[in-house]
Amino acid sequence: MSNIDPLSVEREHGAGVYALRGLTIVRGEGARVWDAQGRAYIDCIAGHGAAILGHAHPAVVRALAEQAGRLVSCPGTFANNVRAVLLARLAHVTGFPRFFLCNSGAEAVEAALKFARLVTGRPGLVAATRGFHGRTTGALSLTWEPKYRRPFEPLLPEVTHVPFNDVEAATKAISGRTAAVIVEPVQGEGGVRPADPEYVAALRSLCDEQGALLIFDEVQTGFGRTGRLFAFQHFGVVPDMVALAKGMAAGVPAGAVAIGPRVGALPAGSHGSTFGGNPLACAAALATLDVLEGENLPARAARLGAWALGRLRRALADTPAVREVRGLGLMVGVELRRRVTPLLRALQEDGVLALPAGPTVVRLLPPLTIGEDDWRRAVETVIAHICHMS
Ligand SMILES: *Cc1c(COP(=O)(O)O)cnc(C)c1O
Repeated sequence: MSNIDPLSVEREHGAGVYALRGLTIVRGEGARVWDAQGRAYIDCIAGHGAAILGHAHPAVVRALAEQAGRLVSCPGTFANNVRAVLLARLAHVTGFPRFFLCNSGAEAVEAALKFARLVTGRPGLVAATRGFHGRTTGALSLTWEPKYRRPFEPLLPEVTHVPFNDVEAATKAISGRTAAVIVEPVQGEGGVRPADPEYVAALRSLCDEQGALLIFDEVQTGFGRTGRLFAFQHFGVVPDMVALAKGMAAGVPAGAVAIGPRVGALPAGSHGSTFGGNPLACAAALATLDVLEGENLPARAARLGAWALGRLRRALADTPAVREVRGLGLMVGVELRRRVTPLLRALQEDGVLALPAGPTVVRLLPPLTIGEDDWRRAVETVIAHICHMS
């Protein structure tokens, strides 16, 4: 077993759907991960933003170990002490009364779609250009990127994509047939693009006028990433449902739909999930909330993110290769005037793991706990490589 080469085994036996980056990661601690040769990397990918407390956080490790020895499975038809505490805690921190618990972002979006159609009795769905909502068939219908969607069409009918941040286009698209409008408060995969406050406010009033539901996809922005516990709190707008996942249990698979009063309780049997709300994930999610609140990590994300945006904007202001620096909290993007893959490869060789967000944007989603030295080093490494290639 010790002399297998994980990369070649994954190439041979994996489904092939991931473009492998040529690196095998075997261990993580805080904002660092190590490869099999013992080389350390600063992890600004953090499981696509899921590892908000970094790797092997002691509070999460302890919660998982204790819960694993007590009860791992408990179907939704039985109440459970840990799940109940999580539901009450989520209600307290979000202000939403009800939650459907699931295991991933796409599942949260799927559930929100079903709930929207069920309670409105309408078929129509409105999403934004460059929006990303997941890869399962329903969620994929809302995801904009044609290369993700095309091979799988026909997808859900009556889905309209409107230009992001365009109030006029939204006004035309939202009608009496619209069940729901779904939008990311900061588009992640689509290039790290924050929504305009006026746009978000307009979506709220358009939905109210037409009797449609407003869904925020906070799968990436949730749980402190943007500098508030939830990104909707930046906008002073309360959506009818919020899709949550990635950071929810600090990297342990967990997702949720926060359900507002206009949706209310759903009929028994209308939806469900075998693993949703399992006590193991619930224990990890509770530990995550304890650390997020106890250490005031959303404020830390706001501070470290603001520093990085300022530093990147100053350092790259006159760099021809750079189109724009964007972000909110520890969701940071630099849009280049060229393809980003060579930069990501160079950063990896230099010990910094960064993500793309579309073909030309480099995206940093570090743990909210990243040390200031590591964060500074990651940002300076990005600047050095971008200046070098210009
Ligand atoms: C990652 C992501 C999803 C999909 O989540 P999965 O857990 O990969 O299914 C959906 N919406 C947004 C905004 C995301 O960033």
